[in-house]
Amino acid sequence: MNKPHQIKIVLVEPSHPGNIGAAARAAKTMCIENLVLVNPEDFPSGEARARSTGAIDVLERAMVCQTLQEAIADCTFVVGSSARQRGLQCPEISPDKLGAKVWQELEQGNVAIVFGRESSGLTNEELDQCHYLTTIPANWEFSSLNLASAVQVICYEIYNAFLKRSSDGALVNGSTEEPAQGVSDPLATVEQLENLFGHMQQVLHEIEFFDPKQPKLLMRRLRHLYSRARPTLVETNILRGILSAVQKVKRQTKSLD
Ligand code: SAH
Repeated sequence: MNKPHQIKIVLVEPSHPGNIGAAARAAKTMCIENLVLVNPEDFPSGEARARSTGAIDVLERAMVCQTLQEAIADCTFVVGSSARQRGLQCPEISPDKLGAKVWQELEQGNVAIVFGRESSGLTNEELDQCHYLTTIPANWEFSSLNLASAVQVICYEIYNAFLKRSSDGALVNGSTEEPAQGVSDPLATVEQLENLFGHMQQVLHEIEFFDPKQPKLLMRRLRHLYSRARPTLVETNILRGILSAVQKVKRQTKSLD
């Protein structure tokens, strides 16, 4: 599975070290070896090592971060895995379609699949950082899988899509696919988009369109809009240039008041 970019399995605040080890093992069986742990409750730990069996190397190389934003900063495609449907949420993608999409997206940048806490899953703010939400079809009365089992199913779909592409010749002969968007400019990373959202919020506040005391859903809706558009770095820089121009005019008018 030689690709220029990486697939990261991100576990947000896992509380049971055994699940971390089992998730490392699950991912490695499917040839995915980049594990990222956001604020784990107990890591490194003997229990994680014991449950990882032959995947201790994956645990030893696991990156530990304090926030989800840090974990996915260098990614251009992020998918949240959730057992539950939410109110205002990003578009959904089924696990099998996700498998194929991941390989297409890897042509353009790093990909992260994000898994939530054992107790409460992912928060809305965390899901807002994702391009898609994926849900493993399960018993509608009992749909929450164990964390490592969910990692296993999603990694299986990704690996299975790799095998299908290989047998179709797409990967064997090098990339024969169009980039995901049909554009040649590199996509903006999560970090570059976060800088855009921060700048946008500041300008919307300065022009009194956004009230931080009554934020409602404005910034979340704008996030979803830009997330669907998949802006390139050049496009992100144009938007930031427009924001800076608005700020300049606003500040000039203010100084005339
Ligand atoms: N009680 C939590 C579920 C936690 S299970 C809740 O209600 O949200 C831990 C994690 O495993 C979830 O956050 C999710 O990332 C993953 N997971 C569990 N079941 C899943 C399913 N059916 N589809 C997709 N992901 C699932």
